[in-house]
Amino acid sequence: MTETYQGRDLLQARYSRSAAIITWSVILPLALFIAACGRQEGKPPPVKAEKKLNVVTTVAPITSIVENIGGDKIQLTGIIPEGINSHTFEPVPSDVKILAAADLLIVNGLDLEIPTLKLARANMKQGSALLLLGDKTITDREYIYDFSFPKDHGHPNPHLWLNPQHAMRYATLIRDELIRLDPENKGAYEANTAAFLKKLEALDQAIQESIKTIPEDNRRLLTYHDSWPYFARRYGFQIIGAVQPSDFSDPSPKEVKRLIDQIRKEKVPAVFGSEVFPSPVLEQIAREGKTRYIDKLRDDEMPGKPGDPKHSYIGMMVENLTVMFEALGGSTAALKKVDPAPVAGAHADYRTRD
Ligand SMILES: [Zn+2]
Repeated sequence: MTETYQGRDLLQARYSRSAAIITWSVILPLALFIAACGRQEGKPPPVKAEKKLNVVTTVAPITSIVENIGGDKIQLTGIIPEGINSHTFEPVPSDVKILAAADLLIVNGLDLEIPTLKLARANMKQGSALLLLGDKTITDREYIYDFSFPKDHGHPNPHLWLNPQHAMRYATLIRDELIRLDPENKGAYEANTAAFLKKLEALDQAIQESIKTIPEDNRRLLTYHDSWPYFARRYGFQIIGAVQPSDFSDPSPKEVKRLIDQIRKEKVPAVFGSEVFPSPVLEQIAREGKTRYIDKLRDDEMPGKPGDPKHSYIGMMVENLTVMFEALGGSTAALKKVDPAPVAGAHADYRTRD
């Protein structure tokens, strides 16, 4: 496996310099031609079974973005089941098989999937490729460190995909990599990406329009799981805080008290929990801070079931923002017009929590 892809290119360069390959390039077609002639009076030669590029991804929103671009031209498996904590996900031994068969592994990167990457590096076949989306989307000067992802731990907040502009960059990175590995389907990858980017632009527009309807003082977020800083940076939200400490445990009583005081002082209209991380502590913080507690946000679990139009990255964004904007006193009329369905239909193998 190579991360820079130079390994494969070098290999090809070495082969093309070799005299042996030149000889074979003459002999092989000739041999095939003779073999084909010999088969003439029988059945036609068997059609070579179409072997699709085998692509493996990690969290469901990234699987969905890849599904939009690859459509039916690739075989696609998402390795991290929906609804589990992707930050602490450890692949099981049977996942080795999936990783070992992959031609391409696409991950978020920015240290989100460390155990999966470790297993991949040990087990992926030679010549396979790895694409780290987050690392190729922003520079380290744009990394956000915060309460749940403190700088002294060295891992930036990895939740880039909740900013649709970063999702657009993910889409073009994926398109280019699919074309590099499977140039035969270039046309399909380009057309799918163009259609998907249009949808992401419509989503981005709808978000901007909706935010205008939220009273300015309410454009502030206090969440349990710390997924929204790159979204906030894009759309002018203020992150008041996140509750979940960097080890994904519950916050200390001192921290809880500080958050309650802050909510009372700043009159936050709602605090947001996550379906993946049910939090009695956040409930307590909301109750004592005299604000609403809404436990419906999700950063890597998509609504509906695989095959449903809303079971998609865009569907997840629309659902999250509908919950969020309504709670903050905004209108969600613009979001309702966004079409969440994957541009080339549903093709990915998603895994769900058992
Ligand atoms: Zn997360």
